[in-house]
Amino acid sequence: MPEAVKPRHIALVAHDNMKVELLEWADYNRDTLAEHVLYATGTTGTMLEFELGLPVHRFLSGPVGGDQQIGAKIAEGEITMLIFFWDPLESQPHDPDVKALLRIGAVWNVPMACNVATADMLISSPLMSSDYEQRRPDHSPRTYESGATPT
Ligand code: PGA
Repeated sequence: MPEAVKPRHIALVAHDNMKVELLEWADYNRDTLAEHVLYATGTTGTMLEFELGLPVHRFLSGPVGGDQQIGAKIAEGEITMLIFFWDPLESQPHDPDVKALLRIGAVWNVPMACNVATADMLISSPLMSSDYEQRRPDHSPRTYESGATPT
């Protein structure tokens, strides 16, 4: 009997012009995604649940805080992979949040795919179904001796 895949915690986010692309990609990879725990920003998540028939932890819509909620879960170590089809051809009202999410993913060494080709490479990686543990950097706060002045 094949060994059960260790579920990864994958967040999926797509800007409006990229939602069809993400839905098509997710539909094609439905059986693989079904083995993992899925998260998404509000609208993307609603569409994914409808399209895939899989449970998705939905956060607020991206522009009203959803990107930041996903970023916080990455920082806390709960979300460990990000599929983020951001729109390279249109500026967004929440551009600072988009940048912040990409940044925090890099800070925490989270695998991130921002287009279909990279998402294909990620989802088909043999590491997805292995016991590979990505390195979580040590960003623990510095400690100070009491009375010492922080430099
Ligand atoms: P949405 O958010 O899934 O709620 O549309 C996506 C985003 O703009 O970050």
